[in-house]
Amino acid sequence: MKVYSFPRGGLSYEDHTAPRRDSSVVAYLPAVSVVPLVHCGGGRVQPVVSVGDTVKEGMLIGWGQVNVHATVPGKVIRRVSWRNACDQEIEALVIRMGGTFEKLGKREEIFPWEGLSSHELRRIASDYGVVEMEGSGRPLADLLALRSGGKEPRSLVVRCVFDDPWLAADYALCRERSTAVAEGSLIAAKMAGVRRIVFAFSHREQELGELFLQEIGGMLTEGGPIPVSLVLTGARYPQRNCRELEIALRNYERREMASLGSLLILGPATLAAIYDAVRLRKPVLDRYIAVGGSAIKNPQVMRARIGTRIGDIFAECGGFVGKPRRTAWGSPLQGRIVADLDEPVLKTTYAAFAMLDSRAGFFTTRNCIGCGECRAVCPVGLDPEELYKRIGRDSPEGWGCHGCGCCELVCPSRLPLATAICSAQGAS
Ligand code: SF4
Ligand code: SF4
Repeated sequence: MKVYSFPRGGLSYEDHTAPRRDSSVVAYLPAVSVVPLVHCGGGRVQPVVSVGDTVKEGMLIGWGQVNVHATVPGKVIRRVSWRNACDQEIEALVIRMGGTFEKLGKREEIFPWEGLSSHELRRIASDYGVVEMEGSGRPLADLLALRSGGKEPRSLVVRCVFDDPWLAADYALCRERSTAVAEGSLIAAKMAGVRRIVFAFSHREQELGELFLQEIGGMLTEGGPIPVSLVLTGARYPQRNCRELEIALRNYERREMASLGSLLILGPATLAAIYDAVRLRKPVLDRYIAVGGSAIKNPQVMRARIGTRIGDIFAECGGFVGKPRRTAWGSPLQGRIVADLDEPVLKTTYAAFAMLDSRAGFFTTRNCIGCGECRAVCPVGLDPEELYKRIGRDSPEGWGCHGCGCCELVCPSRLPLATAICSAQGAS
């Protein structure tokens, strides 16, 4: 099978401090959860419970653009707020666990969905708080409402491109919940009114991609209401970024003369959340998260409740082997600093790490030696060194950096190129 990729830049990213991806463990239920009243896309949520109230597992506790649910049963003991490393003010309800679980360990009722309209399916996903679980954290309803070039999306792309070892959580999810992800794709396709589903898998995971085709093949009625195909992509980082993925898929489209039209790209965690909402009528209560880094004793993929504090997660991985110099959410390529170990797992948290070294030039930097490595890896064809020098002098409008972090990773002078360029663009 041909492998499709983007034409320039990028890098092969290996990291032996990331956790193994072939299995996951269920994290202990947290004695205290910190459930944010803001969704990752930025919209505020109005609490519908007060301090002192008793809440049930899965109960609606916040209402807004994205609904928020209690991830454990218990008592609301505090309302807190803090500023995260991106200077966003976050509010949260603190729940002390107690009482019985409504969902955990109970037999799950399966609800039919085939007879529901696209509108009804969207409403259910919205009621149960489904967001884009990879990246932006935008409400699913907003994503589905987006029009590309004024047209309806015509192909759903299931993004299973593993170009970064810190995507171990998505990989474990695909292995352990393949039926949920496959059926979630069919539901999402109906919600969005697309005419085709494309499974985009990095070529090293061809076998897993074929398993998905089999899963979904068994769910389609004979003749199938919707064509499904598998496209193999490269595994060079940042192949999974929307821009690079679309380049690869347009190459496929030309070569195979397959009309994909505009693309709606969703990841496996979002599709599993859609399945849970529609099939099980279950809100987003937990997510797979890759936990590791050189400072962590036992790196592992964990299935943790939203609201679990990162300090508890690290402790469950055996704690630190030494004092971490950098603790962050996400991959070291695109991480966001953890300002406080009480910060909770969010719906969009796919990884968290603690490093003994600073990585990526956060501390000791030297002068640029003009090696050109940053230019060689930039997939957009930018000159990161030049942009870095222009920060504060010129307007960053139109620079077009999408923050992949490649330039920063390869810079031998450990200059914070991507970090500085992105924050200049964000501030403009
Ligand atoms: S300049 Fe931006 S797009 Fe180019 S490598 Fe650096 S972070 Fe990636
Ligand atoms: S990689 Fe670093 S040292 Fe090399 S040219 Fe770019 S900024 Fe300069």
